Amino acid sequence: MTGYNKRETKYPMPVQDPFERSRNFSEVALGYPEETARLEAARCIHCKNRPCVNGCPVAVPIPEFIGKIAEGEYEEAYQIISRASSLPAVCGRVCPQENQCEKYCTRGIKGEPVAIGRLERFAADRHFSRPHTAERPVSNGHKVAVVGSGPAGLACAGDLRRLGYEVTVFEALHAAGGVLVYGIPAFRLPKEIVAREVEELAALGVDFETDTVIGRLYSVEELKTELGFEAVFLGTGAGLPRFMGIKGENAKDVFSANEYLTRANLMKAYEEDAETPIFRAKRVAVVGGGNVAMDAARTAKRLGAEQVSVVYRRGKEELPARKEEVEHALEEGIGFKFLTNPVEILTDPDGNVCALRCAEMELGEADESGRRRPVMKPSSEFEFPADCVIMALGTSPNPLIRQTTAGLATKPRGEIAADEGGRTSLEGVFAGGDAVTGSATVILAMGAGKAAAKSIDEFLRGVVKKP
Ligand SMILES: Cc1cc2nc3c(=O)[nH]c(=O)nc-3n(C[C@H](O)[C@H](O)[C@H](O)COP(=O)(O)OP(=O)(O)OC[C@H]3O[C@@H](n4cnc5c(N)ncnc54)[C@H](O)[C@@H]3O)c2cc1C
Ligand code: SF4
Repeated sequence: MTGYNKRETKYPMPVQDPFERSRNFSEVALGYPEETARLEAARCIHCKNRPCVNGCPVAVPIPEFIGKIAEGEYEEAYQIISRASSLPAVCGRVCPQENQCEKYCTRGIKGEPVAIGRLERFAADRHFSRPHTAERPVSNGHKVAVVGSGPAGLACAGDLRRLGYEVTVFEALHAAGGVLVYGIPAFRLPKEIVAREVEELAALGVDFETDTVIGRLYSVEELKTELGFEAVFLGTGAGLPRFMGIKGENAKDVFSANEYLTRANLMKAYEEDAETPIFRAKRVAVVGGGNVAMDAARTAKRLGAEQVSVVYRRGKEELPARKEEVEHALEEGIGFKFLTNPVEILTDPDGNVCALRCAEMELGEADESGRRRPVMKPSSEFEFPADCVIMALGTSPNPLIRQTTAGLATKPRGEIAADEGGRTSLEGVFAGGDAVTGSATVILAMGAGKAAAKSIDEFLRGVVKKP
């Protein structure tokens, strides 16, 4: 049974019924049918100043591709998007459009903005629904190593291969895709979509070496000196979870969202015959308010939890998660405890988590991010029962690369220091994505991978001698 998404334009997106979907891992949003896509595309008034394009981090030519959809020229629409974006089927599904292109859409001034993300997804899904063959570019004889296969690495690898470089992607995990495969659940981003992007790159001639940890098997230096790569791109992401440092956090039923989601997504722990176990708790508390927290909460629900609560120290308006994900979580029965901060995780005599002790918060002065700082209310502590706690408090880059790469400059919080073209302190070594910015978004990581590919090309053609 399907329903319709609440955050609606005139032409709603069909979605799986909330009750049904909270028990399966199939995609929630079902995509526009052709007729709806054309009607929605016809809402675009092709503004001369193109405010939507200015709101897009990679400047996708939005009115142009929407115009093609309105005319029924879907492949052309896809080709227009592809000039700026390497992952349209992914970005159409997971970009925070309400803070980017759609935020600036003129149609949104009096009513709903044009559903740009949904139209992007439509064009991409049409493209992939037809057989097409990728033409292998002729090699220019230069070898580039890409470390990490998330959106930054995939975008960099694709652009360089199209320019003729021989590209090898080294990935620590057994599957390529980064957070797109191990973090974002299949009910938001089906894994076949990421797999076909990877297959398309492989068909172009990009070589994928999975189960290969750079900094262990080879150092960054050895990629150049022993394996003969002339440039290296580091797109290693920010996979190291943060914790609160509160009492009880080391109890066995406390997980980082990264571990919990990796077990569910990459290792398919929800399947009956899965080799990787996952704790199917009854009462789950998820601490945090971003996309990761929503994904963890909705995964716990699908794994059979009777009560799932998102514990967030600010209010609903301040939730950093995509609006659509919050709406979907609410529809699926996820509870929210706003203005609430855990101060201790309580365990029973056997060491099992049994409750969360929290304090009530209120919003004080704005902090350096411009958001009002949550302040603890005196004598406001209370307990609520939980048998599993999932921490979704953000992540930092894994220290392995910086610890094993002499001379690689990093920032105080451990991110790799790189300029807007991805140039690091080391000659021939480039970086981009979450490894440089800390945890951010798919589109920013993809844009950084593309920018670095351009810099690598300039570097190897001798246009720029030293990065
Ligand atoms: C659960 C979750 C939900 C999210 N939801 C959204 C969303 O809805 N919208 C959005 O825009 N963004 C979302 N994000 C953020 C987004 O996914 C990231 O910003 C983006 O994936 C970063 O891309 P990246 O290529 O820099 O790194 P990653 O995607 O993290 O990829 C890095 C890759 O490098 C590999 N690697 C690391 N170290 C090494 C090494 N030493 N050797 C070899 N390989 C290595 C890792 O295994 C990984 O595969 C979400 C993140 C998470 C965790
Ligand atoms: S701002 Fe909105 S209406 Fe104007 S061109 Fe962009 S998508 Fe179309």
